[in-house]
Parts: sequence; C-alpha cells; structure tokens
Amino acid sequence: MTDMSYLDGNMLDGPLRELFAVDLSAATSRCQSCGTVGPMAGLHVFSHAPGLVARCPVCSEVTLRLVRAPDRAWLDLRGATFLQVPMPLEQPGRL
Ligand SMILES: [Zn+2]
Repeated sequence: MTDMSYLDGNMLDGPLRELFAVDLSAATSRCQSCGTVGPMAGLHVFSHAPGLVARCPVCSEVTLRLVRAPDRAWLDLRGATFLQVPMPLEQPGRL
C-alpha cells in the first residue's frame, strides 16, 4: 500500500447514520456458530438481561447484544458473521 493518506473517523458519521437509520428488522444476519442465515426479526430476543440479548433461533448462541444507557449504547455483533442491510437505491446527486 503506497497511498497512506486517510480521513479521520468523523467521515464515517454520515454513512453509519444512514446505515443505522434503516429498519434493521429487515436486515439479514449469519450466525457465527451454526451458519444459519436469517432475518434479524427471526432472532430470539431476551430483554430480562442488563440489555437486549438476541439469540440464533437454530442453535441458541448469542448473535447480538445491545445495552443502552441514557447517554450511550453498546452494540456487540460478535455472534454474527455479517449483517446485510437492505438499502434504498442511490439517487442522482446523493452521495
Ligand atoms: Zn446459530
């Protein structure tokens, strides 16, 4: 890699804001444990922990954890190999 130029992390704000502003229940994830691919809406969510814990409906391994505090949130996706999010088609003039 010869081009060592980079932008600081502030430039991620727009793209990530767009990503997380969509309805994630329509997103698809793959379980890291068993490889099952399915909609986020199909996960089994347990809300009686200190946050939300979503488990794979096939193998029951943890796919996602979300802990919310008044001024911040922690999102742990270690149990998902990927998260595929449907995005609106790009429109002319929009980055
Ligand atoms: Zn699984």
